[in-house]
Amino acid sequence: MDLDVLNANFSLQVDSQIFNWSYFTNKIMNTVNITVLDTESIINYAPNYYKRLNPILIRYTKRDLQNYMVWRFVMNMVVGLSREYRDTRKAFRKALYGTTSEAAVWRQCAIYVNNNMDSAVGRLYVEDAFSGESKELMDEMIAAIREVFISNLKYLDWMDAETKKAAEEKALAIRERIGYSDNIKNDTYLNNEYKELNYTADEYFENILKNLEYVQKKRLRKLRVKVNKEEWVTGAAVVNAFYSSSKNQIVFPAGILQPPFFGKGQTKSLNFGGIGMVIGHEITHGFDDNGRNYDKDGDLKDWWTLSSSQKFVERSKCMVDQYGSFSWDLANGLNLNGNNTLGENIADNGGIRQSYQAYLNYVKKNGNEPLLPGINLNHQQLFFLNFAQVWCGTYRPEQAVNSIKVDVHSPGNFRVLGSLQNFPEFATAFNCSKDSYMVSEKKCQIW
Ligand SMILES: [Zn+2]
Repeated sequence: MDLDVLNANFSLQVDSQIFNWSYFTNKIMNTVNITVLDTESIINYAPNYYKRLNPILIRYTKRDLQNYMVWRFVMNMVVGLSREYRDTRKAFRKALYGTTSEAAVWRQCAIYVNNNMDSAVGRLYVEDAFSGESKELMDEMIAAIREVFISNLKYLDWMDAETKKAAEEKALAIRERIGYSDNIKNDTYLNNEYKELNYTADEYFENILKNLEYVQKKRLRKLRVKVNKEEWVTGAAVVNAFYSSSKNQIVFPAGILQPPFFGKGQTKSLNFGGIGMVIGHEITHGFDDNGRNYDKDGDLKDWWTLSSSQKFVERSKCMVDQYGSFSWDLANGLNLNGNNTLGENIADNGGIRQSYQAYLNYVKKNGNEPLLPGINLNHQQLFFLNFAQVWCGTYRPEQAVNSIKVDVHSPGNFRVLGSLQNFPEFATAFNCSKDSYMVSEKKCQIW
């Protein structure tokens, strides 16, 4: 919509005064000398949110809201100050996360620097800890899993031929990024990236402010600039993987290409249960409740027929109910939020299915892998074991309650339980009896 539509249809009201979106936007964009007219196209990601915000705002004064906004900023900045300041957050941290102490200073610093200078840290990480040999193996796995995703389309009875065709085109167009961007090996590129930043060794807090401003301005300057679809969306020293809907790109940074996710010396069953499942997960994000709104070029364009679209929503409902009925012991028995976690759950369910089939295809082509010594499990079982292992972890009760409200991922154990209840090959691999918790009568499947 245009900015003036936002002003007209999504106005916010405080103390009987209307919040002026144009003024607000221009105040921000003026920091990088950009003027925004009311005819500027904008994306309103959360129209319902704004509609529902008004009745809440009405309960507060302008002063309350100003204080609240400034306070949110101050809260975020306090971590960069000395002990006395940081201690003011103790009770808040305890209530929200259940933590009674902060992480060691070296760890906080390492995390901060990696988050804010990911190219520089990525360079050091890659030089020290990444062989680069993984690239070829990853290429093969991605090709195999993408192929399964595409060939499975023909078995989907809820999707019509026209939409399947478009889905296939989108899957084929997904670009992959593995390990790290070549840019970070280039001194000129790196120096250029940081040339505007002049840190002072004994002014930690000011350095943080400088970083904030630098990153924010870099972002704002991207308005009206064509999306660089080659650009990496993450640093290399990151144990995570990504799908970018606007670039139709999947990314596997060097940091995740290590055990238990992936290892040259690991069996293929472990690799497919680990990074293979992640590959399928990221591909499927292109087709979850959010990603499906973007086309093969990463543009916000609808490529669905009305009937396929409706059936997608119906099928999603099954997963919303399934995950929404999980009660989480660590969160005082609260139920998960099936709506907030839908996209991730769709991705998990697709990912495990595609990767498992890709592993079976691998075995068909290359023969059985030899069994591992000292562990009485076959490779189908090892596949599922590693899938479960990568989500092994626990939560403090406060953090568990909080994460139900804010995390788009289901907690690790439910990521495993939910997707394996829907995937009967698990019960087969472990000879589960018919009345087992893992054998569910109702199975949800989208991809
Ligand atoms: Zn995800």
